[in-house]
Amino acid sequence: MSRRPPLSTTGTVATAAQPLLPGLGDLAPASVAIVANAYRVDWGTGVRPRFHTVSKSKTCRCGLGPACPSVLRVREYLDTGGVRAPDVPDDVWPAVPEQCPICGTSCRAHPRLDFTAHGLGWTCLAGGTLHYWEARLRPILRAQLAANGQPRWVIPPEFGPGDDVLYPGVTIEDVRLARERAWETHRRWQTEGYSPSD
Ligand SMILES: [Zn+2]
Ligand SMILES: [Zn+2]
Repeated sequence: MSRRPPLSTTGTVATAAQPLLPGLGDLAPASVAIVANAYRVDWGTGVRPRFHTVSKSKTCRCGLGPACPSVLRVREYLDTGGVRAPDVPDDVWPAVPEQCPICGTSCRAHPRLDFTAHGLGWTCLAGGTLHYWEARLRPILRAQLAANGQPRWVIPPEFGPGDDVLYPGVTIEDVRLARERAWETHRRWQTEGYSPSD
């Protein structure tokens, strides 16, 4: 039986993927479906795990991460006109971010800040939960900005070519609200107990 490339049409896409998932080479191209803000790749019953979930940041939730063939399968799906998954709002975290969206430092899970509407809670190893709340405030600030004109910046935003936001900036209101939130959290820890290692 001839081994066909796992990712069908384009040869460049197929070669890198072949050795990674055992059994992949004998299968028809995987189907791709949109689930929430990600792509679910179904490799069929011959591959384990059968289902892989690929985020818009081009990484699979399986152990292979960005090296998973499912990532290439999604790229192929998009290249051939597949419908794009909706963007994740920037105050929703389906997974704990690797880098703090405020300062770029590593983050770790912080289940006390898990919210149904905002996904998994996290804390920044440099800025703590303050940076979580700053990130949560950004969409609110954008809405405020649209409604009231320019906010007062503590750190002004930075824009790249094409008006990409490189850094969203911090306003006086940002800092005030984040301090309030941090203080609330602090008080809650005092009453409910908190171990930094949990
Ligand atoms: Zn995968
Ligand atoms: Zn941070």
